[in-house]
Amino acid sequence: MYDYLIVGAGLYGAVFAREMTDAGKKVLVIDKRDHIAGNVYTETKEKIHVHKYGAHIFHTNIKEVWDYVTRFATFNRFTNSPVANYKGELYSLPFNMYTFNKMWGVVTPEEAAAKIEEQKKAAGITKPKNLEEQAISLVGIDIYEKLIKGYTEKQWGRDCKDLPAFIIKRLPVRLTFDNNYFNALYQGIPMGGYTKMVENMLEGIEVRLGEDYLLDRAKWDAMAEKIVYTGPIDAFYDYSEGLLEYRSVRFETEVLDKPNFQGNAAVNYTDRETPYTRIIEHKWFEFGKDDEGKDIPKTIISREYSSEWKKGDEPYYPVNDEKNAAVYAKYKALADKEEKIIFGGRLGEYKYYDMDGVIAAALGKIKEMR
Ligand code: UDP
Repeated sequence: MYDYLIVGAGLYGAVFAREMTDAGKKVLVIDKRDHIAGNVYTETKEKIHVHKYGAHIFHTNIKEVWDYVTRFATFNRFTNSPVANYKGELYSLPFNMYTFNKMWGVVTPEEAAAKIEEQKKAAGITKPKNLEEQAISLVGIDIYEKLIKGYTEKQWGRDCKDLPAFIIKRLPVRLTFDNNYFNALYQGIPMGGYTKMVENMLEGIEVRLGEDYLLDRAKWDAMAEKIVYTGPIDAFYDYSEGLLEYRSVRFETEVLDKPNFQGNAAVNYTDRETPYTRIIEHKWFEFGKDDEGKDIPKTIISREYSSEWKKGDEPYYPVNDEKNAAVYAKYKALADKEEKIIFGGRLGEYKYYDMDGVIAAALGKIKEMR
């Protein structure tokens, strides 16, 4: 008999397992995949750590979370500075003075601010109600049309008018020459890859891979006092309250016989016509003396295609619009009545968490239980 059965060996599950084990509890972690680390999983090919389920750049402003992760990995000094490619024109991201200069020829912050204000006024937006209005009021119509509209509609498969404003607020807008994508005090990539970091978190803890909890629930439930479930909450309830929508992502990964394909870890293709949203060149996540992949003569790239999730696909992004919020509220009401089950993580809570948010949530849940 275990105190905790943890379903899912991603970040939520790994943090929970570590903390409970350290508190003297008997813990078993299972995962239906044949590897740990959930979607932060990295695999090593040609000495390069390939982010198999999409780019993950760790960033946080929460000191407790940074102190926590640095117990399990040394982080390099990678700073995310994606480049946007709009029909061959290159722009700096996030939106900053380099972007404004290239877009409008403006040179000073005042000129940039005036240009944004002028475009915002022309659009007549006072209170932004959706992503489109939010974007235009933050950066104006030109940037919206070249760098946001196409990318967002490809990524979410929905019109920008039908998406919540908060998604675009993830991106900073700055009147300085600063290409750092994140407003975070702490940022980097674990040297040796995320898989190694999660392996360190799970050290000494029993993990069984290739085990699908939902296929034999009675068996697993009988094995533990409490269950921590980090899979999709709608699947847990056999979709009784309706399907929650997710976006899925497909990656086309290629090893190229050249040392440098695009000169940057991430290039976003922001036009509507290019079928993929971005290309990741994994070696440029490496930074520092122990990350040797960046010096090899080959490179590995992944083209990222976004699609609507259907049963059997991997869910990546919850679609946090009103319709799904209403469905989720019904599942949440069921979850709140459970005495034996704790739901956590991006899928368990149907929330567009970043990695630090997931870790903070797991640590918070444990504190609450003490
Ligand atoms: N976004 C955009 N253009 C870009 C990059 C991002 O319009 O070149 C928008 C898009 O709506 C996206 C949101 O900003 O969904 C958040 O982007 P982020 O890079 O944070 O998404 P993630 O890395 O989680 O996929």
